[in-house]
Amino acid sequence: MAEAHDLIVIGGNAGGLSAAVFARRSGLERVTVLERGATLALPGVAGEHGLDISYGETVTSVDVDGDDLVVATRRQSYRSRAVLVALRTSIEGWQPPIPIASGERIHVDEIPTPANDVDVLVVGYTDHAVELTVRLADLGAGVVLAAGGMNPRLLSPVGAQLLNELERERRATLLYSSRPQQIAEVDGFPMAYFNDRRTPDLQFDHVVCSSGRRAVSPEHVGATDAALATGRVWFLGTDDETPSNAPSAPGASIGQELVGAVFPAAVLPAPEPSAWSRHEVPGVVEELRTRNYNATITAFEPTHSDLWVLRVRPDHGSVSHLPGQYASLGLGYWEERVDDAMEANIDERWEKLVRRSYSISHRIFDEHGYLADESAADELEFYIVLVPPTPDNVPGLTPRLALKKPGDRIYLGPKVAGRYTLAPVTDPADTVIFLSTGTGEAPQNAMVTELLRKGHHGPIVSAVSVRQWVDLGYLDKHRRLEQRYSNYHYFPQPTREPDIPKRYIQDLIRDDVFAAEFGVKLDPSDTHVFLCGNPSMIGLPEEGEGDEPVYPETVGVVQILAERGFTLDQRGRRGNIHYEEYW
Ligand SMILES: Cc1cc2nc3c(=O)[nH]c(=O)nc-3n(C[C@H](O)[C@H](O)[C@H](O)COP(=O)(O)OP(=O)(O)OC[C@H]3O[C@@H](n4cnc5c(N)ncnc54)[C@H](O)[C@@H]3O)c2cc1C
Repeated sequence: MAEAHDLIVIGGNAGGLSAAVFARRSGLERVTVLERGATLALPGVAGEHGLDISYGETVTSVDVDGDDLVVATRRQSYRSRAVLVALRTSIEGWQPPIPIASGERIHVDEIPTPANDVDVLVVGYTDHAVELTVRLADLGAGVVLAAGGMNPRLLSPVGAQLLNELERERRATLLYSSRPQQIAEVDGFPMAYFNDRRTPDLQFDHVVCSSGRRAVSPEHVGATDAALATGRVWFLGTDDETPSNAPSAPGASIGQELVGAVFPAAVLPAPEPSAWSRHEVPGVVEELRTRNYNATITAFEPTHSDLWVLRVRPDHGSVSHLPGQYASLGLGYWEERVDDAMEANIDERWEKLVRRSYSISHRIFDEHGYLADESAADELEFYIVLVPPTPDNVPGLTPRLALKKPGDRIYLGPKVAGRYTLAPVTDPADTVIFLSTGTGEAPQNAMVTELLRKGHHGPIVSAVSVRQWVDLGYLDKHRRLEQRYSNYHYFPQPTREPDIPKRYIQDLIRDDVFAAEFGVKLDPSDTHVFLCGNPSMIGLPEEGEGDEPVYPETVGVVQILAERGFTLDQRGRRGNIHYEEYW
């Protein structure tokens, strides 16, 4: 009789594979995963961890014979000391927890075909969502996983590891804390609206919802009472429901619990040291940087100590984007800060990345003095200001970025996105007004250059509100642009300089300053206004119950323009006021 296995895992999904990997690392020799299909949910894991997989195996019964459990499939039977049933099934009648438009571009648990070269949003936070993300990325889709609510401790380790690799290789974007509020259809494509101001609306080719799952029942694999009574048949648990007559545990820890319970003599791998104690281990920071960073800072030019223009080149993937869009940058919490502010729970977060969105700026001129064409570049330019700590907020990223220099490594997210683009400007004779505060000038620089490159001949004005003259990282370039293009006007407005009166962007609009200075009138019939930066300058109305917009107490540009007949971009409807809020 063939020697019995130590462990048979039924189901080659993230949880089953994690348990198998753990069992192997604990020294169990004979571990086999039985997979019904021809591939694993997470391809590549078997080879990397030396797992034994039998494909095309459908289990028909789990019974006892003497001291062994016997797992029968349609083709053969396996004797084993222990069995883990990792199969899961969808919950009947499951409904997405958010309003989702129906249609052929919305899928539940299914991969759209073809999946290569399409942008797909996966919504979900469990192992199953990770499996869908990995499969889509392997098929060549650009994937965003909206995993609001995800608890990384409940993810299976191999799934968590693959997600980390996908991010580093810029093959998938993870929105850990964002969950869409609604998915609507706009121009025939799904548009995701998020509950978090830091994640502007994103449009995709397809949306895949990962449904709620639960463990299968013992009948599903034909487990007999005698087999269950041994205490050596385990079911992979989920948050939702598990069979009550079998031991179970969440995906991440089931391998450990099962191996510990069934094989007391096994040498369990030592638990990973806590993030904070790893802090002391020499080389750990270098290792974390290697594992997480995927791009190099190629230029870091301070306008002054707290304001920088930097350029970032990714190791993988393209940087193609539309002028006005944004990308995300990240640094590890392990990196030093320029200030000595204390962050809450830093020991728990120490090995994680702090990521933020950044508009893509533009160098405006190339090395020959022509208008630069960034579409051919292999790096992205950013314009970033240091945010100081306040009693309410300890900033995470910019105090770490402050200590970086050219050649240092950084994380650049794969997803370049945003609807704040020139798409609505279709007439080259239109008036285009860009209004910003501080680094809100970044996307305006990209759009101004693009318009001029394309030969836009209508008036273009870019006005920016800053505190002092020194806060203008691109001043000289704009002055050169003005000399070259008579239809272009740059209007920097410092608010804290003794020699000029204090005026905010709202005052410039209210007082028709551009008409007086440049003869440029703001007529809603032929003018587009782009607003970027501080939300109180923009002044978006609340989404009220009635038809009347409810504006914030501090009057913003939107209200002033709306009173003059301008209309705001809204969900599903383009106006002639376009905006990007930075917080
Ligand atoms: C779509 C998008 C694009 C963005 N593009 C840029 C950009 O091009 N350049 C840039 O510097 N920032 C940009 N931001 C803001 C950026 O994402 C971070 O919030 C910012 O760099 C602060 O990060 P932090 O971790 O240091 O501080 P956080 O802990 O994130 O602090 C957030 C607080 O910092 C303040 N703050 C955030 N951004 C700014 C800013 N730009 N100027 C002044 N105060 C600010 C606000 O009070 C905000 O509440 C953008 C944000 C979004 C949503």
